[in-house]
Amino acid sequence: MNAVGMAVLLAAMVAGTASGEARVARPSDAKPGVAPETGVEVRILSKHRPARLRLDGPRSLEVFASRDVLLVDGRAVSPPLRLESGRWRIRGRNLDRRYEGSLSLDARAGELIIIATFAVETYVAAVTASETEVDTPFEALRAQAITARSYVLASGRRHEEARACDLTHCQVLRGEGFARHLARARDAARSTEGVVLRLRDGAIALAPFHASCGGHTAEPVAVFGAPDLTGAAAVPDRCPASPWSAVVSRAQVTAAATEALGSPAQAADLLLDRDSSGAVVRVVDRASGRDARGDAFFRALGARAGWDRIRSARFSFAFGGERVLVEGQGHGHGVGLCQAGAALLARQGQTAEQLLAHYFPRALLSHTKDK
Ligand SMILES: [Zn+2]
Ligand SMILES: [Zn+2]
Repeated sequence: MNAVGMAVLLAAMVAGTASGEARVARPSDAKPGVAPETGVEVRILSKHRPARLRLDGPRSLEVFASRDVLLVDGRAVSPPLRLESGRWRIRGRNLDRRYEGSLSLDARAGELIIIATFAVETYVAAVTASETEVDTPFEALRAQAITARSYVLASGRRHEEARACDLTHCQVLRGEGFARHLARARDAARSTEGVVLRLRDGAIALAPFHASCGGHTAEPVAVFGAPDLTGAAAVPDRCPASPWSAVVSRAQVTAAATEALGSPAQAADLLLDRDSSGAVVRVVDRASGRDARGDAFFRALGARAGWDRIRSARFSFAFGGERVLVEGQGHGHGVGLCQAGAALLARQGQTAEQLLAHYFPRALLSHTKDK
């Protein structure tokens, strides 16, 4: 679709949402080739693995997954069950969430698979609210909204069943009420409606963000590989160093290295290569000569030792017997918008535009209408 077509669709969709008009979703509404301009499909509540839910909104129903059979109010229906756009309240065991969008439900192995389709701007506001702290200054929220919008419009389909999940893997999206400060996030999204970061070739930037870089953001190619699709660059930052440390087992380091390198490796043989920010960008096994991207090693170690403990790719090891002391700075992959730094700079009077120029020096601000 060309840029004008996209903008017209986007405008129509946002207008439709703003009027609060409920629309009945039909199978013909599914246009896989043109998402997400027609809406962002997100698999929601996957972490909860719900089997039975009560839905209230444009209508009320009880849904239940009996193995691969979807039951609605006790009767089997042929999936997917499509529910019209509106404000839905979804309740289950330990679960009470509200979402504004259309829903599609299926049953798989006793679990309800729920795909919500949100208008792009509804999605951007919800992610901005879910991904930021309540005391985030407004200009930092605006920068976050532009970053989140760019990311989702640039990212392809990241999951088989939907474009995105609602977890950190894609962008965190909690339901209304659980999103921490939705009203301010909506204002931030509205005041930047349609604004995106673009690379020099005109493509929308796959613009990432993270909690805290620890004093220097990371080089995107070093973390994610070439070519750079983010428009970010390694820049010094004024956020606090956010030091952290964790004690992990030598076996966990060995297992993580073996996974990242694709062959057995011993912890003591590992050499960590760093970029100018101090982030581990490459791990080398001195015994075999094999190497792997630092990001792959960081993820493999975080998966074993806990994401809350291995907080960033800027770390070093100190071996002591079977225990390994891991010391690092920052929180997250370190590429692109640093949320801690953006909040600090916004408090000092910087605008969203200035913040984005700082963290994404290889990208330019433009509108989805422009190309
Ligand atoms: Zn995901
Ligand atoms: Zn920072």
